[in-house]
Amino acid sequence: MTFERTIDVSGTVFNVQRFSLHDGPGIRTTAFLKGCPLRCHWCHNPEGIRSEPEPMRSTNPAEEFEQVGRRITARELVKELARDRIFYEESGGGITLSGGEPLAQPAFTLEVLKQCKQLGLHTTLDTSGYAPAEIIDAVRPYTDLFLYDIKHMDSAAHEALSGCPNELILKNLETLISEGSNVAVRYPVIPGANDDDDALKQLGIYIRQLGIEQLQLLPYHAYGNHKWSKLIRMPDAQPIPRQSDERLLKVKDLLEPYGFITTIGS
Ligand code: SF4
Repeated sequence: MTFERTIDVSGTVFNVQRFSLHDGPGIRTTAFLKGCPLRCHWCHNPEGIRSEPEPMRSTNPAEEFEQVGRRITARELVKELARDRIFYEESGGGITLSGGEPLAQPAFTLEVLKQCKQLGLHTTLDTSGYAPAEIIDAVRPYTDLFLYDIKHMDSAAHEALSGCPNELILKNLETLISEGSNVAVRYPVIPGANDDDDALKQLGIYIRQLGIEQLQLLPYHAYGNHKWSKLIRMPDAQPIPRQSDERLLKVKDLLEPYGFITTIGS
């Protein structure tokens, strides 16, 4: 796939978070891009799912709604992202594109990554991996680190949980690893959805076959649940019980015999 090279390509962003410590190494600024092809019912950023700006009930009593999402050019966003470069340099940090799914805005994401690399910034892409292979291939040279989630190894279960099958996600992951990209593979542990022994066994076998050294378990949290009900035309989040610490440690124990390091948390 070829993308038109224009430095004024625009995209839609719903948040820019400075001094982030959990979206890659060091101190980072994370831009959250709108639009995601998946529909995970545990999503903690549901305001990132729709591609267009949208109203959300406001926490400010002076206004009923606030607009979520703003149009911005790649150049403008890169200027915002580069503002804290002194902190990136001192901490080994950089910038992260997250969402939503950044690859749902491929031309914009590519341009932002390119411009950040021109400035010498470390770039991280937080992705579901659900994107055409040619898009992954296009962003790969400008991405220092991929944060890459596996949600379930069984494609039918993956589709039931997220609305999309997993073959494309796994194929893209295998390509990235075989081509030498730096990939942090993560598994969001969702109680009752993907933490049963069978699902973990399939995961353990797959990660061992991939030959990577480490898997990050991301414990489920309900911090984003309140946002679902604030979004117009979005159903409320389905309640999911919090994972017990004991079960999380058990998940870790079940995966460790497969021969890679398993960590808890990002
Ligand atoms: S892939 Fe991520 S952003 Fe998209 S719906 Fe799932 S959790 Fe939300």
